[in-house]
Amino acid sequence: MLNKYAFIDRDGVLIFEPEDTKQIDSLNKLKILDGVIPVLKQLIVDDYKLIMVSNQDGLGTTSFPRTNFDIVQDKLLDNLKKKGIKFYRIFICPHLPSNNCSCRKPETGLIKEFLLVKPMDKARSFMIGDRDSDKQFAKNLGIKFYQTNTNSSFPRLAELERNTNETKIFTQLNLDGIGNYNIDTGIKFFDHMLEQIAKNSLIDIDIKCTGDLSVDEHHTVEDVGLALGATINKALTNKKGINRYGFLLPMDEALAEVAIDLSGRPFLVWNAKFKREKIGDIPTELFEDFFRALSNNLQANIHINIRYGRNEHHMAEAIFKAIGRTLRQAIENDPRQKNLITSTKGIL
Ligand SMILES: [Mg+2]
Ligand SMILES: [Zn+2]
Repeated sequence: MLNKYAFIDRDGVLIFEPEDTKQIDSLNKLKILDGVIPVLKQLIVDDYKLIMVSNQDGLGTTSFPRTNFDIVQDKLLDNLKKKGIKFYRIFICPHLPSNNCSCRKPETGLIKEFLLVKPMDKARSFMIGDRDSDKQFAKNLGIKFYQTNTNSSFPRLAELERNTNETKIFTQLNLDGIGNYNIDTGIKFFDHMLEQIAKNSLIDIDIKCTGDLSVDEHHTVEDVGLALGATINKALTNKKGINRYGFLLPMDEALAEVAIDLSGRPFLVWNAKFKREKIGDIPTELFEDFFRALSNNLQANIHINIRYGRNEHHMAEAIFKAIGRTLRQAIENDPRQKNLITSTKGIL
């Protein structure tokens, strides 16, 4: 059985990293960053093993005595434990760059042996970090990298496995991504459209679907819509701080109007007529099924209108690009309402 690992950098990602010394060596400097707790909790529920990997320059020398590190690290682990979060393994490189050790990120010497004993599921494992050394570390391990900005809130990640007799789907995404994607549904034109959602929403999206395409494309398209909607909804958690609404209009000679409200109430309005039976390898009637499935599991109100257009490839693409853009607006955190919910009801 392969393990799912979430490798996580510590300083600037889990906890605040002082801009001057970069060293967290006393309790008053310890601050867990926003969003860390809910995401780590969910990862544990989803069977991820949390692995902390950190470079601590000169740890154990007079410039950074061990006790100063330990007092902070112990308190951090204790605070996390109180929230039900336990790291499965913690790997610390205490060296300086000039030591040329094999355990300082991006080198993987610290965890090589561990991975031999407890091998990982590379498709599902990932690294979260704020530096190029973290990115290169992920590359050296052959896994995905989720980039954060130093001392920003923790990336809103979620994954989902959805298996039926008709389709087997794995999705993983990062709402606070840069629009990276790795999408394979077995329907080429559909992949091309889903990539538009990733690019335009800046959500990093992984989708792997193995569906019963020998029967028809319908199950695959609809189930991917259900899975994608559910995963985005899961990553939004309590929807605190989000804009909630998004809307958009133009695109080449085709005009697509898309509006979205992450209201918690699914409803799709679909006014888009296609004359062609198929575009590429996807039946055009399935676009509506996809958006209805997405709306249902994202629990969102989505309005889609194609006002006019000539080229149906463009019309389809306009819709998917626009949904990406509207999603980007709606999921974005508004700094002015950090811990507030955009509703007089108090929930979404
Ligand atoms: Mg860091
Ligand atoms: Zn080292």
